[in-house]
Amino acid sequence: MSRSRFEVKATDLLGRVGRLYTPHGALETPALLPVVHPLNQEIDLDTIKRIGFKAVMTNAYITLKRVGEEAAKRGIHSIIGFDGIIMTDSGGYQVLEYGEVDVTPAKMTIYQEEIGSDIAVVLDKPTGFSRNRAFAEQSVKETLKAAQETINTKKRGDILWVGPIQGGLFIDLVAESARKTSTLPFDLYALGSPTEVMRSYHYRHLVKMIVAAKTNIPLNRPLHLFGAGHPLTMPLTVALGCDLFDSASYILYAKDDRYLTPTGTQKLDELAELTCPCPICTQYTINEIKALEKAERIRLLATHNLYLLHSEIKQLKQAILDGRLWESVALKARSHPRLWSAFEDFTKHTNLLEDGTPVFKKRAIYLYTKEDLKRPEVKRALARIRRDCHPKKKGTLIIFTILSGERLLATPFCRRLLQQRVEDHQLLYLSPIYRLIPVELTEIYPLSQTLYPSSLHNLPTKTLHKEAKRIIVEGGYKQIIAVCLNKHLHTKLTTLANKLNIKLLDYCREGSKGQNDAAQEVLRTIRLAS
Ligand SMILES: [Zn+2]
Repeated sequence: MSRSRFEVKATDLLGRVGRLYTPHGALETPALLPVVHPLNQEIDLDTIKRIGFKAVMTNAYITLKRVGEEAAKRGIHSIIGFDGIIMTDSGGYQVLEYGEVDVTPAKMTIYQEEIGSDIAVVLDKPTGFSRNRAFAEQSVKETLKAAQETINTKKRGDILWVGPIQGGLFIDLVAESARKTSTLPFDLYALGSPTEVMRSYHYRHLVKMIVAAKTNIPLNRPLHLFGAGHPLTMPLTVALGCDLFDSASYILYAKDDRYLTPTGTQKLDELAELTCPCPICTQYTINEIKALEKAERIRLLATHNLYLLHSEIKQLKQAILDGRLWESVALKARSHPRLWSAFEDFTKHTNLLEDGTPVFKKRAIYLYTKEDLKRPEVKRALARIRRDCHPKKKGTLIIFTILSGERLLATPFCRRLLQQRVEDHQLLYLSPIYRLIPVELTEIYPLSQTLYPSSLHNLPTKTLHKEAKRIIVEGGYKQIIAVCLNKHLHTKLTTLANKLNIKLLDYCREGSKGQNDAAQEVLRTIRLAS
């Protein structure tokens, strides 16, 4: 396998902030590449650059057809008038639209080298949204053959080559395509055919497709998602490990008088306000935009759309650096019920998502709903507690419930009090999120850095009962002191204590003052007993 030209700076979930080194400089990821026509550009490239885009995508096939010789002579950067990074698609989209193109993958490989693309794509055979399995199989096979042809043909060592992954609606084919393509030495891999899946709101399928691709390509290579740069799905797809996107949506929406918002698009006619703080939306009123000539209106709308897309990408970058990508995905998931369903599916991939989630984070994690309990940080802490929880076989078992406020730990006062004075006994904190935590393990991240609303206090207690029973039986305690227990566990404990002939003392107190009082009472009891 060739040397990776991708460097990862920070990760959260499977999202990564990275740098991809190309002949025209380094591209920071996650990145979105606006798609521009090689010749007829509605938005000039200077504007795109000024907004902050370091890279664009254009079409090598159209370039070949329209200005073939000239582009080979002058180079693609001169043709489109952009000195940044240029990725070229090679006609796969035209294959999808018209069925065939009159060039071979080898020819498109040589041509992309001639015009000096920075990132070049194999002329693939997109599966699209086809429900025909035989067609999908064929597209995977032909794409793989084209990929091999490109690897055999390419000569230049500086251009980054993209290996396309197809399969569309057939997840096993996506996995197979990813597996086989990744045996070839590409610098990036790209998942094809998500556009229709997204347009028809099949976000759950999008999750499956990305997982199938991502788990079958090398981790040190970026994954590009073709034609999928939409603010609605970007947090989810970035969190699943997509590093690059391209999108023509900014201009297509503009031509359709659609205004892009962080959660979707709105028809210009339906808008009373321009809600975005970009230079276009602060300089014009909605009525001024509506009154413009069509061409100018498209230009301004497309410019706004680009500002919005750029801002969304920057926010995701910051979320990864902050360790708050989960929050971004969950927040965006509320924009559409179908996206929420996809988010629910996403939460089932905790094991996968754990790979990129740092063991320590500088910030607290916020939990809101039961889906958030599947966060890698929570699952990891629970596993660690279970692994390292070995009850002492002596003294009294003290179960101290922490329900005050929205944080895990007891008040600093009672914490100090308990930690210093109960050394001969086993103290367990009972947390609504992490269940029974031996006091020795409370420093594990993020036990004391977890914030949650009181609605998460009443969680299913079956596992909790089982854990309590194991600890009590293994520890062989003669006495249990329980403070502020939840009702279900209290009943269970009473039954268990009776059965095992253990003395159960129950001090229930409300609030933080009550918690301190209870701590004092626990200590008094222990002293009297010893
Ligand atoms: Zn705007």
